[in-house]
Amino acid sequence: MTEKPEIAQLGADILRQQAREVDDFSCPKFLALLETLQAVMLESNGVGIAAPQIGASWQVVIIASRPTARYPHAPDMSPVIMVNPSFQVLNANRRKDWEGCLSVPGIRALVPRYQSVRVNYQNALGQHEQMILDDFPARVFQHEFDHLQGLVYLDRLESNRDIVSETEFFKRIAA
Ligand SMILES: [Zn+2]
Repeated sequence: MTEKPEIAQLGADILRQQAREVDDFSCPKFLALLETLQAVMLESNGVGIAAPQIGASWQVVIIASRPTARYPHAPDMSPVIMVNPSFQVLNANRRKDWEGCLSVPGIRALVPRYQSVRVNYQNALGQHEQMILDDFPARVFQHEFDHLQGLVYLDRLESNRDIVSETEFFKRIAA
């Protein structure tokens, strides 16, 4: 692995840019990005990560719902690399639940997300795949997909009153 990148923090330009599509799946830069992205996600106890968060403005996310210190009730799934993803809403019902973000440290918020989505993406080899995601993994996907559009979860809130500090979150909500 190359040297450990810093996680882009809210205010960094890269988090507000539209990420570009990957078209060369054998490009050494792309392969290095995949490796770094996976390593950073594991180290930071994340359940998902998007390339712009490590300073690479490309359409690559990893979805890896699993129970972690940050999300103790998350269902287990093997990490999935999704390149150039797009999605359709299968259940337009939106539910609010807690989200946090490595790029927005110190707070959590209740974010409305679609309950069920069908994702079209390319795998690390460039092959086209499709996956249906429900509930928490669907939420993780929509959060990471937003990063590719230059959005963060704060942009999705219904009210600022849905924001709490991480300290309060662990004291009252995840306790
Ligand atoms: Zn995030």
